[in-house]
Amino acid sequence: MHILLVGAGLSGAVIGRTLAEAGHQITIVESRDHVAGNCHTTRDADTGVMVHVYGPHIFHTDDEEVWNYVNSFETFLPYKNRVKTTSKGQVFSLPINLHTINQFYGKTLRPDEARSFIEDQADTSIEDPQTFEEQALRFVGPDLYEAFFKGYTIKQWGMQPSALPASILKRLPVRFNYDDNYFFHQFQGMPENGYTAMVERILDHEAITVHLNTTFTRDQAADYDHVFYAGPLDGWFDYDLGRLGYRTLDFERFTYDGDYQGCAVMNYGEETVPHTRITEHKHFSPWESHDGSVLYREFSRLAEPDDIPYYPIRQVDEKALLADYVAKAEAESGVTFVGRLGTYRYLDMDVTIREALDTAAVFLEKGAETPVFVKAPL
Ligand code: UDP
Repeated sequence: MHILLVGAGLSGAVIGRTLAEAGHQITIVESRDHVAGNCHTTRDADTGVMVHVYGPHIFHTDDEEVWNYVNSFETFLPYKNRVKTTSKGQVFSLPINLHTINQFYGKTLRPDEARSFIEDQADTSIEDPQTFEEQALRFVGPDLYEAFFKGYTIKQWGMQPSALPASILKRLPVRFNYDDNYFFHQFQGMPENGYTAMVERILDHEAITVHLNTTFTRDQAADYDHVFYAGPLDGWFDYDLGRLGYRTLDFERFTYDGDYQGCAVMNYGEETVPHTRITEHKHFSPWESHDGSVLYREFSRLAEPDDIPYYPIRQVDEKALLADYVAKAEAESGVTFVGRLGTYRYLDMDVTIREALDTAAVFLEKGAETPVFVKAPL
């Protein structure tokens, strides 16, 4: 079969490679001038530092098959994400751990003591937290919520935490020990030569042709036996029911002669500081050494139609519009919606790859008659 893939990010690359290896002919159209989607990396011309162009991407997973998959295309070197946050004139450790709690409250609590201390702060009357705010008040209480989450989240999402789903905060653990690894997955690392080199290698197959700088239009689909679409779900339908909300990011680049902040990611918990975080990219490649440094202040805002969509907002009151688009997508034939934009979900890279592998496997088993699968529940 001749298959069209829209988007050369992780979903497109992994599906394309799997289907190419099974004997299909693959054409990929990508509107940007590079592959790898939002995990695109490139060397900074001034400093030589490997830069995560669309913001930091740290690979972490419990999925051994996915870990082996990425390692078969690129060497992953050890990297542990240790995030700090500045709030109330001090630097604290994230995710909230025993150090954060003891520093914040000026105490020397042991794990069990900290657990019951935080339980006393928490609002246990909230039985089944639905919103971000309820989730925070239920698990850490108002003091830590206000210092670390409230301001940051208002900046990041542009709305009150009471209008956001609890699922966003569920990404972050609270630890009653001194483990400050941001992620709790078994495997974590960074690609030695960047994500773009990895994706280029995934796409390096004789049956795959990639067209960069090529905007997809629906009429292109007619020439193919099936389409895998990793563009925005609402974009497939020309936004005819209205637009699903996204946050976009603006990056303010600056350089520094030396080590600016001593860590890769410094969050700013307070609403009065306009940026959400500063990332110092040389710390994402700790095996390299660079005298100069390049940093980005990161600002979040609502995406306008021409902006790059980053985070699906998935506002509580957006459920109905999403459900309508999902129903329309399910009524389509000859297309499978994949990835972060195609299914309008906040996906980590490992989940994206897992779903791409599974999607390709189902397609190979069932052929072009595969029902469209859209996984976009709120
Ligand atoms: N968050 C926060 N303060 C922080 C870090 C995270 O309030 O210092 C909230 C914020 O709403 C964010 C969510 O927790 O969107 C998930 O954080 P994560 O670090 O996973 O966000 P990402 O790096 O994917 O933007």
